[in-house]
Formats: sequence, structure tokens, C-alpha cells
Amino acid sequence: MDCYACQLIQGQKDLPGGRVHRTQHWVVEHCTGPLGVGTLIVKPIRHCLHLWELTSQETAEMGPLLHEASQVVSKLLQPSQVYICLWSHAGWQPQHLHFVVQPSWENLKNISDKPGPYLQAAMLQTSETPNRATVEQFCEHARGVFQRNGSLTFSPLRSIRN
Ligand SMILES: [Zn+2]
Repeated sequence: MDCYACQLIQGQKDLPGGRVHRTQHWVVEHCTGPLGVGTLIVKPIRHCLHLWELTSQETAEMGPLLHEASQVVSKLLQPSQVYICLWSHAGWQPQHLHFVVQPSWENLKNISDKPGPYLQAAMLQTSETPNRATVEQFCEHARGVFQRNGSLTFSPLRSIRN
């Protein structure tokens, strides 16, 4: 299938950092686009274009997983906010749905005056994909946090904050 999200899940495309986490119906990966180190993608394993088409089992895992993913990002990077958004619309065509879980800090002002979608649009325009080694380091830590399920004390990765 000609779907980038599916190809990443199936290991047919390069995924810096590798798979971070999976549940029965969802996977967590690092974003391959220019949204900064620590931005995670949360998506159903099944090729599904629309949120309204998720099964009840997929839906039941969605909220807790987004909550956990935002906690992992928060614990590791200590952002002032974690954005969670779902666009999945490229060239006006619906795409394999995926949530973007993105840390944000005030120092990203140097990229965009305004936060939220303005910041995302500015970052997407830069096309600067994050440093691979730094992404791999983040993913290694993130896997550990998911596995320990928040039971330990974490030292934030200050060195790779944006
Ligand atoms: Zn797909």
C-alpha cells in the first residue's frame, strides 16, 4: 500500500529512533518531519483515515495512550505545553490518521511570534528535520519511560531541548 504511515509501521521506510511504543491497536513513533526533537506521532496500526471510523477497541486505547505520550514528552523535556493535534490531510486528501504530540517552549518564539498552529506552520516551512542522533537518544529514553510507565523519577533531557 502506498501509505507512508503504514510503511513506517511495517519497517519499509527509514524511521529514525525506531518504534517507541505500541499497544494492541496503536503505535508511537518519533515524527519524521521538521517539528523538532521530542515530537511523537501516535497512530492506529490499521490503515484508517478518519477518526469517526475507529473501532470501539481502537477508541478505548486512544485517550489513555495520548495521555501517556504527553506525560512521556513532558517528563523528558519539561515543555511549557504539549500540543496534541490531528490534521492527516495532505494535498486535501485524507491520510492515515496520526496525532502529533509536540512539546513547546517560549524559546520557540525565535521561530514564530505566535504559538500553536502558527508555530507548526513556521516549523514545517523550514523543512529542517531534527538531528538523527538526537532523535535516537530521545527515543531510547522515551521507550524506557513508556516501559516503566511513569513509575520512576526522570532526569529531564535538557541537552536536547529546543
Ligand atoms: Zn496507512
